[in-house]
Amino acid sequence: MRQRVVVRHSPVHGRGVFALKALEAGERILEYKGELIAWKVAVRQHRKQGVSGHTWFFGLTDGRVIDGGQRGNSARWLNHSCEANCEAIEIDDRVFIHALAAIAPGEELFLDYQLITDEPADDEIRLGYACRCGAPGCRGTMLAASDS
Ligand SMILES: [Zn+2]
Repeated sequence: MRQRVVVRHSPVHGRGVFALKALEAGERILEYKGELIAWKVAVRQHRKQGVSGHTWFFGLTDGRVIDGGQRGNSARWLNHSCEANCEAIEIDDRVFIHALAAIAPGEELFLDYQLITDEPADDEIRLGYACRCGAPGCRGTMLAASDS
């Protein structure tokens, strides 16, 4: 796949992924690569990293997590935003990042992580996944809105 994005310092958090060229809405940009692990393992690793650790986990619909920290690619640097310009499409245990809207060269790419927990998130987990994206509709967390 041609290089469409570049990883560099982000004003939001750590490093981020930025468009190198104009991207069209719906365009497949890159795959979110990494090791498939169980959610419980992801939580344990996240606690070890501490709240300042960069989140490299991508939750699949079946509850498993892709750990971009293990054999991951530049997609792991995608920052979370509650009003994202990209979406993740899951196909057979693989995740592809698509543009939700037209993205101009130089714009940072954001994904709404919507992390899912299979147990009620305690305060420690909530703190670890606090969102500071600053979007008007910010939920204050990278976790998915809970149904309960
Ligand atoms: Zn937010």
